Amino acid sequence: MGVYVDGNELHRINVWLFDHGLRILAQIHSHPTDAYHSDTDDDNALATAAGSLSLVVPDFARGPADLSRTAVYRLDQRGLWTHVPPADVGRLIEIVG
Ligand SMILES: [Zn+2]
Repeated sequence: MGVYVDGNELHRINVWLFDHGLRILAQIHSHPTDAYHSDTDDDNALATAAGSLSLVVPDFARGPADLSRTAVYRLDQRGLWTHVPPADVGRLIEIVG
């Protein structure tokens, strides 16, 4: 099961963001079990700027927010999602609130 945003809607979102001086820097979604960036995730990412982050939360995000259980990826200059080592995640992301 998944939710897809088609090209027309993604374009509309990006025009709105541009008009408001904003852009997508990160995306987050959950998986029913293991957290990893699937081929579908690679092919249908909403965040498309190099340096963007993609977080995949395991177990449908049941339980408290826990970055140590969240798979984190970053889009590199070649357009490839690369896994961020857990030791580096804390430098990039802070959960507040
Ligand atoms: Zn996924």
